[in-house]
Amino acid sequence: MLRDEDRIYTNLYGYEDFRLEAARKRGDWDGTKDILARGRDTIIEQVKESGMRGRGGAGFSTGLKWSFMPKKVDGPVYLVINADEGEPGTCKDREILRHDPHKLIEGCLIAGFAIGATACYIYIRGEFYNEASNVQVAIDEAYAAGLIGKNACGSGYDYDIYLHKGAGAYICGEETALIESIEGKKGQPRNKPPFPANAGLYSRPTTVNNVESIAGVPTILRRGPAWFAGIGRPKNVGTKLFCISGHVNKPCNVEEEMGIPLKELIERHAGGVRGGWDNLLAIIPGGSSVPVMPKSICDTVLMDFDSLREVGSGLGTAAVIVMDKSTDIVRAIARLSKFYMHESCGQCTPCREGTGWLARVMDRMVRGQARLEEIDMLQDVTKQIEGRTICALGDAAAWPVQGLIRHFRPEMERRIADYRQSIAAE
Ligand code: NAD
Ligand code: SF4
Repeated sequence: MLRDEDRIYTNLYGYEDFRLEAARKRGDWDGTKDILARGRDTIIEQVKESGMRGRGGAGFSTGLKWSFMPKKVDGPVYLVINADEGEPGTCKDREILRHDPHKLIEGCLIAGFAIGATACYIYIRGEFYNEASNVQVAIDEAYAAGLIGKNACGSGYDYDIYLHKGAGAYICGEETALIESIEGKKGQPRNKPPFPANAGLYSRPTTVNNVESIAGVPTILRRGPAWFAGIGRPKNVGTKLFCISGHVNKPCNVEEEMGIPLKELIERHAGGVRGGWDNLLAIIPGGSSVPVMPKSICDTVLMDFDSLREVGSGLGTAAVIVMDKSTDIVRAIARLSKFYMHESCGQCTPCREGTGWLARVMDRMVRGQARLEEIDMLQDVTKQIEGRTICALGDAAAWPVQGLIRHFRPEMERRIADYRQSIAAE
């Protein structure tokens, strides 16, 4: 269990003021100039040593991503913060933006300095109206206090931060679609490579990082990489924000250590499963883009990138969606298929056509009005999508259906049989 003194996001629940004076009392902006004085290479090395893996969902090493940025370059270089939190079940970055924006702004300065950025864009989800207001207040306060802008923190480094509002498209949370959107274009993902470090915003070297990753960086550098690396399990370290929703007694956002057992996470912080642990049917552990897990896996699995991958799911955004035995699991996954069909940008055929197929067949599965062979056909369609698309939305649409077939096939078969029987009885 995470000790209170090891929490990074100390204002997570909004008990205190989000503004500069209160943030400073909580330790933000303390010795930032000294951190910058360590130099670019040292900061990148320390973030690598900390073992921080990106908190947007993919878990790519943050320090390694920074090290891809060119060392010497003429012209603009950008840091882009992905605050377009749209993954179903996920509401962790929203808490930071709303209650702790100075942690993010300080992180933006340090990360921008480390990668040699000339400016930073924070791309915030359009629906986050109050959060955008708070972030803008924090930016304005930081400018007025000389913490960003010309000679930021007295370091000699000039750095501007701009807030850019999205317009409500899920796909704009994909980093290259987000970049296109800032450029004023339709939010459609680009082929990778080139990765943003080579050609990103306005074709300039760019790093795109998630809010939680960057808001954690100042504390990691203040307390030292070994402190962060000492929390959790090897290769899966540090503290992590979990969003627990669904059939629990007390839905919540909570910061815990990486690798905490899923059962302990739910029982300690969310008041347990409604009706008790034995009433659990299934859990989606990382937002809608990862496969669902039946109770038998939930009993023992640890909440980190590698443990969840080993059992065929993923940590994703750490949005834990709990479903008790009253849940119609086929309907729940069918709803996700509909979501991905709606959010597909339509650019590549396997995703545009495949998500439509999945949604239509899943809709019939819910009613049992499908043929038994169509379960295998569904599986086949997911395989035709997986790994064959420009961005990860295709995989994200395929995996929940694969998880359903892997763990709940008998339930799908039962519905089809029940429907057949009801027809025969008429
Ligand atoms: P990804 O693995 O393609 O990339 C992760 C990051 O690492 C990117 O910034 C990418 O540029 C970088 N990267 C990867 N390989 C690289 C290389 N060889 N060279 C340079 N840079 C490299 O994953 P992704 O598409 O960015 O993210 C997928 C994840 O997003 C999913 O796991 C899902 O959980 C998550 N997601 C999050 C939200 C949200 O609201 N936070 C919404 C939808 C999906
Ligand atoms: Fe668009 Fe889907 Fe292709 Fe991604 S996978 S680029 S969302 S069509």
